[in-house]
Amino acid sequence: MNLPNMIEAKKRSREDAKHIYLDDIKSDMYKDKKYFLKTYGCQMNVHDSEEIAYILESFGMTKIDTIEGADVVVLNTCAIRENAHDKLYGFLGRCKHEKETNNHDLIICICGCMPQEESVSNDLIKNHPYVDIVFGTHNIHELTDMLLNKIDNQNIRVYSIEGNVFENVKYKRDSNIKAWVDIQYGCDKFCTYCIVPYTRGKQRSRHSNEIIHEVECLKNNGYREVTLLGQNVNAYGKDIEDITFAELLDKVADTGIERVRFVTSHPWDFTDDMIEVISSRDNIMPYIHLPLQSGSDKILKLMGRRYTKEEYLTLYNKIKKAMPESSITTDIIVGFPGEEEEDFKDTLDVVEQCKYDSAFTFIYSPREGTPAAKMEQVDKKVAEERLQRLNEVINKYARIANEKYLDKVVPVLIEGKSEKGEMLMGYTDTMKLVNVSAPNDTIGKIVNVKITNVKTWSMDGEIVE
Ligand code: SAM
Ligand code: SF4
Repeated sequence: MNLPNMIEAKKRSREDAKHIYLDDIKSDMYKDKKYFLKTYGCQMNVHDSEEIAYILESFGMTKIDTIEGADVVVLNTCAIRENAHDKLYGFLGRCKHEKETNNHDLIICICGCMPQEESVSNDLIKNHPYVDIVFGTHNIHELTDMLLNKIDNQNIRVYSIEGNVFENVKYKRDSNIKAWVDIQYGCDKFCTYCIVPYTRGKQRSRHSNEIIHEVECLKNNGYREVTLLGQNVNAYGKDIEDITFAELLDKVADTGIERVRFVTSHPWDFTDDMIEVISSRDNIMPYIHLPLQSGSDKILKLMGRRYTKEEYLTLYNKIKKAMPESSITTDIIVGFPGEEEEDFKDTLDVVEQCKYDSAFTFIYSPREGTPAAKMEQVDKKVAEERLQRLNEVINKYARIANEKYLDKVVPVLIEGKSEKGEMLMGYTDTMKLVNVSAPNDTIGKIVNVKITNVKTWSMDGEIVE
């Protein structure tokens, strides 16, 4: 994928990567202004937005929940599926209206994965002149500079897909109980449907000592849980040949932080050492997200997934044998090019065998520049019908998985108010959402909860001694 002509493609070494924070510069330019930040997509984007929030708040800005009244709007975009484009452009229309009618000085920024696509950057430049700042996934650290040096024309910085490894990044974290910790950036797998290797670049692992230092600081600051983040966490270390993911997990567990999680693991990189470490360390949570994508060998091959149905099932059974109480969730795509009824039935067969705790299910969405977009596409109606059939089975097993918890006492890390605000909410070690009747002083604590009621996607419970 090429980059827009006017954008200089830079390739920099990890040592060059340095953040510019306002702490070092000092400026009152945006003091007391308001910002609105909207995040689309995966946990990576959510965590990137925590960095963007830090930068904006270092200017003295405060966050608000509406574009009306905002001085700066930042839309952190996702490119994984086509509907992400539709959502962004729909929202952008609202921002344009606000700028034209109420606030001519509104600064509109677009960032994240979408600007990494040439067609999107070009479109923003040509057709959306009211957008002020555009930056890619490798340029967040330049936001300070872009805001300070905002000029009348669009300020666009989207660097090459090579990217950097940043250290000493500062975040305005959404929670003071649990934290995301990047362990690697990008992905080398190039599954034929996926745009991530093009938007986030090839895999770059952070050095383990930096990761451990970050986890230790979080623990010392009262954090109870960390989630190690990457597109392919268990390929961690392969590019620096320093340490494996299993060894990293062990070291993170050694910090003594109460809960360690990780997303996402690729079945191909899932080693016996990982299973050994996860099952032997009490503070590594027994929850594994193990994307299947398809249960058909033919489709898995076309997807470039590097495992067969049999190999996936063998791995699944190995994990369950070592950790029978663990919960396992997955991602599945239906309607991938070439998927016939028989292939879809293979997917259903894996779901019937694995009885997942839950799953993210998607209709295949062609992404420009990826090999699968050029393959013969499946009829949309057929794909929609398969998604519906798949979801029925997924929902059935999600409910069955939750029913096993009824009347059991489980540890729950209480995070705050429940959605409806009447109860508190938190997660079990197996990542089950529990609404709990409990006093506010339990927020931030791991408490024993008796499960009194189960639903498909959540449970209710009460505190026991
Ligand atoms: N790295 C993870 C893995 O390999 O399993 C997943 C990362 S991706 C951001 C999250 C999920 O989006 C994928 O597991 C896949 O199910 C889905 N996905 C990615 N590209 C897609 C596409 N073109 N159409 C539909 N779903 C897609
Ligand atoms: Fe995309 Fe495949 Fe990489 Fe996951 S492993 S991010 S699906 S290319």
